[in-house]
Amino acid sequence: MELPEYNITGHDYSRREHLTYQGTPIIDIHSHVTMTSPDEKPNGPSGGAGPSGSSDAAAQMLETGTEFGIGRIYTMCPPQDIAPLRKRFGDRLGFNGPISKKPEEPDDAAYRNLDQFLAEGIEIVKLWSAPRGRERGFFVDAPWRIEALKRARAAGVRIVMFHVGDPDVWWTHTYQDVAKFGTKADQYPPLYKMLEMFPDMIWIGAHMGGDPEHPDYLEEMLNRFPHLHFDTSATKWQAREVSARPEAIRSLVVRHADRFLFGSDLVTRHALEPEHYVSRYWCQRTLWESDWIGPSPIADPDYQKIEGGRPSPILRGVQLPGETLLKVYSDNARRLLKMGRI
Ligand SMILES: [Zn+2]
Repeated sequence: MELPEYNITGHDYSRREHLTYQGTPIIDIHSHVTMTSPDEKPNGPSGGAGPSGSSDAAAQMLETGTEFGIGRIYTMCPPQDIAPLRKRFGDRLGFNGPISKKPEEPDDAAYRNLDQFLAEGIEIVKLWSAPRGRERGFFVDAPWRIEALKRARAAGVRIVMFHVGDPDVWWTHTYQDVAKFGTKADQYPPLYKMLEMFPDMIWIGAHMGGDPEHPDYLEEMLNRFPHLHFDTSATKWQAREVSARPEAIRSLVVRHADRFLFGSDLVTRHALEPEHYVSRYWCQRTLWESDWIGPSPIADPDYQKIEGGRPSPILRGVQLPGETLLKVYSDNARRLLKMGRI
C-alpha cells in the first residue's frame, strides 16, 4: 500500500515529547486558510467559494494549530472568503491580500482587487513573484504593483510579504530555460529596487527569502536592508535545506533573531486528511525547536533520491535557543503586527 504524502515513513505523529516550547502562542505568519468547496481542483487555486463555501476545512486546520500551540494564523485567501472566515473564527485569523490581476486585465483590476482587500481589513499585502509567474507579468517590481503598494501604504498597510526565487533544484528542471525564467540570482535585483523604494515598510521574504540553500546570501541581504525579514514557510523545502546545513542556519537565525518569523504555508483543501495539517506543524516545530534527527515523514518531490536510498531527506532539528525561539515563534510577529495579547 502506498503511504500518503503527509506520512511516507509511517511516522507516529503523536510522539511529541521533543516539542518542549512553552512560550506565548505561536503566530503562523504564512498560510492559505480559505473557504472550500467540493468542486475545487486538488491543485487548483485555493479558496474563493465565499459565503456559500464551507469553513470546515479551516476549522480542522485551526484545531490542529491549537494542538501545536498556534494562537493566530495569517492567511492569504480571496477577498470574498474573509468575511465568512472572520465570522466563524474571529481574531484567530489575520489576513494578507495578494496584489494580483490576470495578465489580460488592465492595471485597474489590481487596484480594485486591493480595494476589496482593504475594505475587508487586511494587515499585510503579498507580492507573489516566483519565476514561473514571469510569463503572466508577476514581476515583483511591475509598475501596477508599485502603484498598488503605494495605495496600500497610503491606506495604512505597513507590511509586505514577497515570494521571489524557488528551490535551487528547480533550475535543473522547471527553470532550465533561463532566457525565460532568469537565473536564481536574477530574481533578486528587482526586489532590491522595491526594498529601496519602500524603506518605510516592513518586508517579509516568504520561504526563508527563497534561498535557504545560501544562508550567507540571506545574511548579506539582512545586513543590507534593516527592514527585511524572512518567514520559515514551505515545510518540505525548509525541512530538506535547513537540515542540510543546520549549523549555518542556526547561527544565522541566532545572529538575526529579530528578523525571522514562523510560517507553515499550509493550504486548506476541502477533503484533506487532518494528518496533512498535523504533518506540517509537526515538522516545522521539530525543525526549529528540537534536536530530532530522522527521515522526514513528508513526501518531497524535490529530494534527489539515490537508488536504494531512503525515500525522503533527513530532517535534522536545529534546536534554536529558547530566547531565539520565542522571537521566531511569537514575539517578532507580535511586534511587527502590533498585536496585543492573544
Ligand atoms: Zn504560500
